Parts: sequence; structure tokens; C-alpha cells
Amino acid sequence: MADGHPMYLWWNGERRRWEDATVHVTDLGWSTVGAVFEGIRAYWNDEDGELYVFRLQEHMERLARSMKLVRLPLEYSVDALIGEIIGLLQANETREDTYIRPLAYAGNTSGKRFAQLGNEAELLINTHPMPSHLLTGLTQTAKISSWRRISDTVMPPRIKNLSNYRNGQLAGQEARLDGYDTAFLINDQGKVAEAPGACVMLVRDGKLITPDATSSILESITRDALMTLAREVLEIEVVERQVDRTELYLADEVFTCGTAAEITPIVSVDKYDIGAGEPGPITRGLEQAFHDALRGKEERFSHWRTPVGISVAVPA
Ligand code: PMP
Repeated sequence: MADGHPMYLWWNGERRRWEDATVHVTDLGWSTVGAVFEGIRAYWNDEDGELYVFRLQEHMERLARSMKLVRLPLEYSVDALIGEIIGLLQANETREDTYIRPLAYAGNTSGKRFAQLGNEAELLINTHPMPSHLLTGLTQTAKISSWRRISDTVMPPRIKNLSNYRNGQLAGQEARLDGYDTAFLINDQGKVAEAPGACVMLVRDGKLITPDATSSILESITRDALMTLAREVLEIEVVERQVDRTELYLADEVFTCGTAAEITPIVSVDKYDIGAGEPGPITRGLEQAFHDALRGKEERFSHWRTPVGISVAVPA
């Protein structure tokens, strides 16, 4: 770390010093309208002296799908990009919980406004520290947003399309101005979709329930992991289906989940207490199982972790 940022980032095929990664000001603005991105976490394990990237392969495969959908050409293989990310974390000597953000955008857009076809894609990968809040007791309150979740008839909710994010941002701003921590967005079918930047899960009668993949949700990697952990570690039933707004009010437990959100227990929705108004046993059980899987304390899910080999790359 130098001046509060890592020494290096990766940009268009090369690892570069942070200071040297600059663009001309006219390249900004319009170009990012067409951008897609990823958000990935790496977790430090002190005992192992190792940094583990969580589900790196799946994140890079989703980046490839996002790029395909918005017709940005990807000139690198997923394996090559995984290698570059590992190399970047090693070069930065990253020994703390970290967020990794690949961003693909159309290059050479100066003066072209929205023309995206046939453009070269530029690809930036940078990292910054992001401590985990798992098992810290963080909870949030939520409201149902007056904003609807974007629909697949308008924008592709299932990919990490940067332009999608105005939708969740408006909902999040509204929620905070109204005195809540976060929001739930209803989709154009009138069913629960997700929260800004996170998926939603609820517990009722001991079952884990989550809006299905056609409910205008991002194809979330955390959601997928938690469904597996619920089935295999907690041994409870998991149901993917449409979810009504009032099911949230009557749920025994509600939480949001995602790479940044990890698991965030929701203690009230529209001022209806969820269960006893505190995180319930299934949420807490999943938090522990998730923590163990991503920090490298549970061998069963070692295939979800890419060790960076940081202990090998000891600084001189
Ligand atoms: N929905 C949206 C809109 C998101 O931005 C995120 C975070 N990437 C999620 C859901 C959760 O997805 P993931 O578990 O893959 O991070």
C-alpha cells in the first residue's frame, strides 16, 4: 500500500503502477454508459498466512457473460484473467480483506456518444481494502421502495451492467432519506426482486425462500453459495420462487446477500418487526457457515477458494 492505495492495478493487458493509469478526460462519461463490471472479494486467513479469493472462476465467467450480452469483445481467456488477478494481488502484497473490481468498457469513445458496436473493449482491474462485516452483529432496517426494479424487457437485470445501478441507487437514497438503511425493490410483476446491490432471502417455517432467477435479479454468486450451504450444512429446504411483498412482513427471518453485503440481517421491513426483531437462528447459522467457507476454515468448500500464494511472495 502506498498513500492509501495499492501499488499496482491491471489495465489493458499490463500491470501498471497506480499513478500511471490515467485517461484523457474526454474518454470519460459516455464510455461508462456501456460498461459492465464484477465485484469480487478476497479474504485473509491469518492462521494460513493466505489470501483466498472467493469463487473467482464464477465471477470471471459472469464478467464474460456480461460482456457478451452488451456486445463488448473479450480478448482474454477467463483463465488468463484469473492469472492476472492473482499476479496483481501478489504484486500488491495484499494481506487483508480486499475487494477486486474488474471493469470492462468501450474504448476510444471520444465524440461517439452511445455508439458501442465494433468498439474495442478496455479492461481495468483494481483492488481496495474491504473488511468483512460477517459475525460483527451488523443489522439493517428496510423499506419497500417506490422505485420498481428494472425489468428484462428494458435492461438486463441478470448481468452486472453498470447502467443498471442507477435503479438501486435511487432506491437506496430514498430509503436512507426516509430513515431506513436499505430498500427492497418490487419487479414489474409486482413480486419482490432484490435490494440495491444485493439479493434477498427469507425464512418461513424453517425453509429458505428466495426470488427465482426470472424475478429481475442479478445472477448472484453469493445467493448460489448460500443455497448450497443451506442445503448441505444446515440441511434445510431451499425454495426458489416468486415472492410477495407481504411474505417479507410475515417472515421469521430476512437477510440480504451479495459480495459486498455478504449476509446482512434485516430486522424490520416497513416497520414490521421481522421475527423477534433480531437475526434468527438460520441467518446466524448461514453466517457462520459462509464465514468458514470463504475464510478457508471449512475444507468441504475449498473448491470455492483460490489461494493467492501470498505467503510465498514474501517481500524482500
Ligand atoms: N444484485 C445486485 C444488483 C448486485 O449488484 C449484487 C452484487 N454483485 C448482487 C445482487 C449480489 O450478487 P453477488 O452475490 O454475485 O455479489
